[in-house]
Amino acid sequence: MPEPFLLHSCCAPCAIAVIDELRNAYALTVFFYNPNIYPEDEYLRRKREVVRVCEEWGVPMIDADYEPDVWADAVRGREDEPEGGLRCISCIGMRLGRTAREAASRGIAQFGSTLTMGRQKRASIVTPLGEEAGAAAGVRYHAEDWKKRGREEKARRMVAERGIYRQNYCGCRYSRERRFDFD
Ligand code: SF4
Repeated sequence: MPEPFLLHSCCAPCAIAVIDELRNAYALTVFFYNPNIYPEDEYLRRKREVVRVCEEWGVPMIDADYEPDVWADAVRGREDEPEGGLRCISCIGMRLGRTAREAASRGIAQFGSTLTMGRQKRASIVTPLGEEAGAAAGVRYHAEDWKKRGREEKARRMVAERGIYRQNYCGCRYSRERRFDFD
């Protein structure tokens, strides 16, 4: 019997190769919790693409509530930070914290996140936040730099083959306003 695994997914371009790698090794469930995404139309668009990927392989997906106010509270006072700074630490930490608690509430002992597939998301930042979230909830964080071992290239191919929507900013209103600074 494969071990249950709860995978936080930020978007389909980051998730597709990770889901494909984990879906046969674990009893995988995908968790979509991204209240950082602005505006809501964009949130719904990204979520639809994750649903599409999960449906292709029959992987169950949990659709968490869209709660932008909770996200705004989490990053308050850090709005003007550059991408990769303290605002992102709060943003990533709150999403991983919610995922870890969801795993614990469902009796799933292990969780992970597709966030390290993102170009701007260094594993050295995401991993300690995942471990901290796991320790607080009593579940294990599966640390992995998904950009490595050819997965980034594989993901790019899979996204192109399916015509999956690829956004040009990280997610929040601040990254949207400054998107041409880091593209
Ligand atoms: S840039 Fe991305 S990681 Fe940073 S706060 Fe915005 S949505 Fe979150």
